[in-house]
Amino acid sequence: MDQRLRLLAVSAAPALLVIAAAKPPTPEEARAFVERADARLLELSNRQQRAEWVYSTHITQDTEKIATEANTDLIAATMELAAEATRFEGLAVPEDVARRLRLLKLSLTLPAPREPALQAELSEIKAGLEGTYGKGKYCPQGRDCLDINALTRLMAESRDTEELRDAWRGWHAIGPPMRPRYERLITVANQGARALGFTDVGVLWRSKYGMTPDAFSAELERLWQQVRPLYRSLHAYVRARLSAHYGPRVVPSDGPIPAHLLGNMWAQAWGNIYPLLGVSADPGYDLTALLKAKKVDEREMVRYAERFFTSLGFEPLPPSFWERSLFVKPRDREVVCHASAWDVDNDEDLRIKMCIEITGEDFVVVHHELGHNFYQRAYRRQPFLYREGAHDGFHEAIGDAVALSVTPGYLVQVGLLDRVPDRSRDVGLLMKLALDKVAFLPFGLLIDQWRWKVFSGEIPPARYNGSWWELREKYQGVAPPLPRTEGDFDPGAKYHVPANVPYTRYFLAHILQFQFHRALCRAAGYEGPLHLCSVYGSEAAGKKLQAMLEMGQSRPWPDALFALTGERTMDASALLEYFAPLQEWLEEQNRGRKPSGGV
Ligand SMILES: [Zn+2]
Repeated sequence: MDQRLRLLAVSAAPALLVIAAAKPPTPEEARAFVERADARLLELSNRQQRAEWVYSTHITQDTEKIATEANTDLIAATMELAAEATRFEGLAVPEDVARRLRLLKLSLTLPAPREPALQAELSEIKAGLEGTYGKGKYCPQGRDCLDINALTRLMAESRDTEELRDAWRGWHAIGPPMRPRYERLITVANQGARALGFTDVGVLWRSKYGMTPDAFSAELERLWQQVRPLYRSLHAYVRARLSAHYGPRVVPSDGPIPAHLLGNMWAQAWGNIYPLLGVSADPGYDLTALLKAKKVDEREMVRYAERFFTSLGFEPLPPSFWERSLFVKPRDREVVCHASAWDVDNDEDLRIKMCIEITGEDFVVVHHELGHNFYQRAYRRQPFLYREGAHDGFHEAIGDAVALSVTPGYLVQVGLLDRVPDRSRDVGLLMKLALDKVAFLPFGLLIDQWRWKVFSGEIPPARYNGSWWELREKYQGVAPPLPRTEGDFDPGAKYHVPANVPYTRYFLAHILQFQFHRALCRAAGYEGPLHLCSVYGSEAAGKKLQAMLEMGQSRPWPDALFALTGERTMDASALLEYFAPLQEWLEEQNRGRKPSGGV
């Protein structure tokens, strides 16, 4: 569910470096350098994205090699360019030039050392890890192999603890072969980070938010503490209900919840176990059933999301989007099914790649992906280095914020639902959403808590798996369904680890999307409970959104946040306001129960 990561790069001619070093630079030269870099970056980014697209929609040894080579070239060139940019350090230049020089240095997610052999090795490792994940399957004895889509379905639907544990174990077996390669990736990428002047890759990642890495960590902790009481209430309630359903021997009424019983391979979103929770008021409808009843196909799922954006005043997606996107898992070849949104030419060649299933869950994911596409298109007139989200959490939050407007009222408006259920169903509605959005919060936080420590060496390879589970228990309050050792590599079974995609962005996005939603509702003139607000059809809301999107990364993110919300700090109060009726209900239900300890 990520925006396609764009590797920025330029092939700086060595001759240029020699000339450049000869005399002290001027601000004019700095500007000319930035402009030149921008143009080259654009061209090379396009080339790299094409190779990457072909690879992930057609995994073969050859496409892997082509994508790897494109990545190697790009990383190499970016490192050279960043080195060249250092000659402007300390020079008084206009803020716009300074900002682009800074962004250039921060642009790589996977920096590489200058040695060509190490650069090639790093790219090979990265492509290989992603390929291992993409091709991952569980083949139970004597039965058909299960890919991640099939396993996702099984985890969502099965209530048989043996079967669930077997599927969980089967999928997590893709991890161990990744372990030595992952260890090497950390070592080599850290050398790259040091070449850019950062202590390690984690420090580089945390430096992308316009504050010091420590200040950023403190911001995360502040936001987590804002939402933690709500998570604890949800956790305590779910644990009690699962304990009642499966029995206290399977789910003890205190301690962590076994991770295979939450309806999702990573226990990151719990919406699928809603029917087990005995919530007296259900939402009054089931979106998956509504979509199936209307015979909505994959393409039409995407049309619904597109129509939402056009109702806000955005232009429809270009014809090429419909021709070039991948909506259905092909039968004849391997693809990376993990959903992503692309802007292949950094202009209008927008696409999504997703093996869409006709479910309420994927209905939301489609909105999520199109949020990326509309963001990409809104900032396409910015200089290339500014064609990014205000920060990466913004990019992840746009489509989700829009999907929060998929209310019962909206479903009636678009003809999927006959009538709006009465207000007694609100608890069910909120519970269903909280199982996805609130349950996700600690998961969104812990992946990089783990990874930053891995990058810094605080977690050595000998403790990769053990520390992973310590964090999962500490933040999420879940435990592995069977004993784990350091022979396992469970982080590798989560896409963003082998694919090296930073994850804190999703935590931030889960907070920001409610902040955005509240602002959009205010702009639309809505007054009422946040969870019933839909901004469908509001051009006033669309205007505010557009104002933020078209800025891209051209200004510090508080300016972008201000353009939509009138606020300058990230704040979970909108999320808490949204779920306030549920929080109250949960506290009532949990009376007399043990609180969720470490969580
Ligand atoms: Zn995404």
